[in-house]
Amino acid sequence: MSKSNYPELIWYNGKVIPWQEATVHIVCHAIHYGSSVFEGVRCYDTPKGPAIFRLKEHTRRLFDSAKIYRFEIPFTEEEINQGCKDIVKENGLKSAYLRPFAFMGAHGLGLNPPKVPLETSIMALNWGSYLGDESLENGVDAAITSWNRLAPNTMPTGAKAGGNYLSSILITTEAKRHGYVEGIGLDQNGCISEGAGENIFVVRDGVISTPPLTSGILPGITRNTLITLANEFGYTVREQAIPREALYLADEVFMCGTAAEVVPVRSVDQITVGNGKRGPITEKIQKAYFDLVKGVGDDKWGWLDYVNE
Ligand SMILES: *Cc1c(COP(=O)(O)O)cnc(C)c1O
Repeated sequence: MSKSNYPELIWYNGKVIPWQEATVHIVCHAIHYGSSVFEGVRCYDTPKGPAIFRLKEHTRRLFDSAKIYRFEIPFTEEEINQGCKDIVKENGLKSAYLRPFAFMGAHGLGLNPPKVPLETSIMALNWGSYLGDESLENGVDAAITSWNRLAPNTMPTGAKAGGNYLSSILITTEAKRHGYVEGIGLDQNGCISEGAGENIFVVRDGVISTPPLTSGILPGITRNTLITLANEFGYTVREQAIPREALYLADEVFMCGTAAEVVPVRSVDQITVGNGKRGPITEKIQKAYFDLVKGVGDDKWGWLDYVNE
């Protein structure tokens, strides 16, 4: 993301202010200890104007993440939803990656933060598919990393919280150092968990499976969307523990997340998945996903929030 891509305005504590003014002091608690919660949301250019995909579910998860840590976001979910729409509109964006963010501000270095509300902001940026636009068709090479995902009794992976992402940074940087596009972490039992910022699906003999919430995953909204779409197509999706070798023996593997969208995985640990190309089920679900988010066909589940309404 180059600097020139930055939009002019940021939503910060309920006000729309210039990008340059949205700064924090270095004593900010969140910078030292990762005491922040965030969301990644996408707005797509649809025939009826810019629409934010599953905004309510993302905002709900932001509040869920805060609740897990007993943090208070001093706005209502409706106010955050409106802030997301406003900041897309005010920046004149057609499509955007949105980053609602709430963090413990400049309140001293004590680990036990004072009972003060979080600072809250929303950025809206132009951002292409996280793992590269060409990867959507050609797939990516991934590897299991030596770093496990967080175990459920270490830190709650159900919270999209700043501190968790040091784990994701270890996973993704190790993979990239070894020449892969993305790393996949194992869970506390040695089974598949997820990518650094993407949930994972495995297909074999027409059956789709994905690791359960107890495998140290972030319960992705894209994951939920793809399960819904797969069920619509009549596929069974099993949420079950997946051993590492199931990735090697799969017909198809794909990863998903708001930032990465739906990405085929063409190899794992240098073992080719299926025939090394995007598989038919992956393609079908990927196409259905892009049609849905881009407002092609009807919005069956009411998941599009139009910015101009
Ligand atoms: C955000 C995130 C995902 C994807 O979640 P979505 O709701 O689909 O965007 C998956 N894994 C991790 C670790 C994440 O942070």
